[in-house]
Amino acid sequence: MLVRSLHPLIGFVGHRALSSSSAAAAAVTSPLHQCHLRHRHSFVSLHKLSAPDLRARTIGAIGTSSGASPTMSSDASSQQPTSSSSPAVAAPKPKVSFCQSCGGLTKQAVPDGEEKMRAVCTLCGRIHYENPKMVVGCIVEHDGKVLLCKRKIPPSTGFWTLPAGFMEIGESAVEGATRETLEEACAEVEVLSPFAQLDIPLIGQTYIIFRAKLKKPHFSPGPESLECALFGQDDIPFDSLAFSSIIVTLRMYVEDAKAGNFKFHYCTIHKRPGASLSDPTGFDVDYHLLS
Ligand SMILES: [Zn+2]
Repeated sequence: MLVRSLHPLIGFVGHRALSSSSAAAAAVTSPLHQCHLRHRHSFVSLHKLSAPDLRARTIGAIGTSSGASPTMSSDASSQQPTSSSSPAVAAPKPKVSFCQSCGGLTKQAVPDGEEKMRAVCTLCGRIHYENPKMVVGCIVEHDGKVLLCKRKIPPSTGFWTLPAGFMEIGESAVEGATRETLEEACAEVEVLSPFAQLDIPLIGQTYIIFRAKLKKPHFSPGPESLECALFGQDDIPFDSLAFSSIIVTLRMYVEDAKAGNFKFHYCTIHKRPGASLSDPTGFDVDYHLLS
């Protein structure tokens, strides 16, 4: 049973979630769930949010943009998860094909004392733990508008996105978000506040999106962007946004902006296994918490 069946929350989860059993919602008692229920009316206007797509595109896109490996190989050892944090979605299969210690082929196996399938070296026995990656980006505000970049590179070439990319080792989330904004929009920004965390368990990504402002009123397309432009709240091209994470983020942003009260949002995006990259109904948004 998917988590969303336990969290028929907020309208913006989409029609499927809204049609879930209200009895299930009533049975929920944890503080987390109570928070959902408290705010379940906050996003009724966001029903359309379940539409667009493309979480899977995000991985490749961000990977290309940051130069990071599209695989999720960690350097193993002590980083293995201590508990399952994505009960709703089957974990992706290990992607590490070759051992990072000796170059040997790996095989998929469940190591002794563990429960999950891992990539295990057939030569030296090293277990390769694969952990989620952090994607960081900015909603850059200027004159009541937000800065979007039209992608020059696949996937989702020609679609609009927020400047965002994989966080690098050695930098903070804020530093990564400002770096990505500089790279993709040639814009120097000052981060104002955290705005949203979005987990995408199936693909092992967590987004942290900040609100930010331009230090100088200048921006221009970086090498990965065809175009950069400011959009008013009512002009955001929701029908041509590159990734589900961006759609979700901007829906929440517009809702807050119109209410004149920015909150911090946490939510989980669940990609439906097997959904195509461009399937507008290929995901659900769950677990929406607000500050
Ligand atoms: Zn090895």
